[in-house]
Amino acid sequence: MKGATGLLRVEYKEGLYLPDLDLWLDADGPREHCVISHGHSDHIAEHKSIVATPETARIFQHRRGEAKMTTQIYGERRDYGRYALTFYPAGHCLGSAQILVEADGERLVYTGDIKLRANVAAESAVIVPCDTLVMESTFGDPHYRFPPDVATFDRLYAGIERAFSDDRVPVVLAYALGKSQEALELLLRRNYRVTLHGSIWNIAEIYRECGVEFSGAYEKYDREHLQGRVLITPPGCRKQPMLLNIERRYLIMLTGWAMNKSAPYMYKGVDLVLPLSDHADYDELVRLARESGAERIITMHGEPKFAASLRELGLNAEHLAHHPGASTKTKKRAPKKAATAVNLSLFD
Ligand SMILES: [Zn+2]
Repeated sequence: MKGATGLLRVEYKEGLYLPDLDLWLDADGPREHCVISHGHSDHIAEHKSIVATPETARIFQHRRGEAKMTTQIYGERRDYGRYALTFYPAGHCLGSAQILVEADGERLVYTGDIKLRANVAAESAVIVPCDTLVMESTFGDPHYRFPPDVATFDRLYAGIERAFSDDRVPVVLAYALGKSQEALELLLRRNYRVTLHGSIWNIAEIYRECGVEFSGAYEKYDREHLQGRVLITPPGCRKQPMLLNIERRYLIMLTGWAMNKSAPYMYKGVDLVLPLSDHADYDELVRLARESGAERIITMHGEPKFAASLRELGLNAEHLAHHPGASTKTKKRAPKKAATAVNLSLFD
């Protein structure tokens, strides 16, 4: 049975759930069966059976172990009886997918995490026409309009040169899946020698296994061999001995939250905070909502005010946390304070 609108009902209870189809998408607790948009740990759990792109399935296996896996490449439509699924690139990290669900003549797209700007280490996102668009809205505030990425790349290279000329070790802080491979590729294109924290090295090797050709070789972290190299580590390392023991370090953080005026306080001790994000910014989110042609837009993973902004633009939008069935967990995810936002949105 569908909702009063005649469209598929969409609920959030520790994951996106379509009750009319008994279909889970990115559930954050173990399920019998779940469709996965990408391999970030806030989108996966120990499910018994998953459907994902081959790249996401490989990352899932690395991070969560074995499961019954059904893989579909981008653009391949597969019928599962009550519905059909097709994946489209989301530009967020390798294998990241928007999920098109077709059922009873309705096209519902769940974007997962998405970035419309080009990503040097991920497939380019497309906008998929649909009736219902369920979209992330992490940076759904006009304050988050990122400068052109090339300008940010130049600031990254300038920071690294500054560190070397000051006889310091440049350390780029970036999440292990996605952002760090993007940083790696950017650095290799400039012929820097790059050494990677073990968790990042593991994922980079999976990228290569999946056919990604980086623009050069890279090394695995060895504390005896840091001279003349750029080190990439996850942000959590900045308070650990691995980095604290590098006396002359120069820390560069890559995050969309760099646009927040509280960034200098959030990233105290970091020398340079640059707005390189693997998420869409405000303008991209609005473009996505408009160009999808959706008659119903449902926002999640951000603040409710983004849906209000879309309504002001004449679009039919609502925030999922406003649904009666929404869990308190979703409500908690709407960040009130910048510092909270950083804690909760781990993969920006
Ligand atoms: Zn993500």
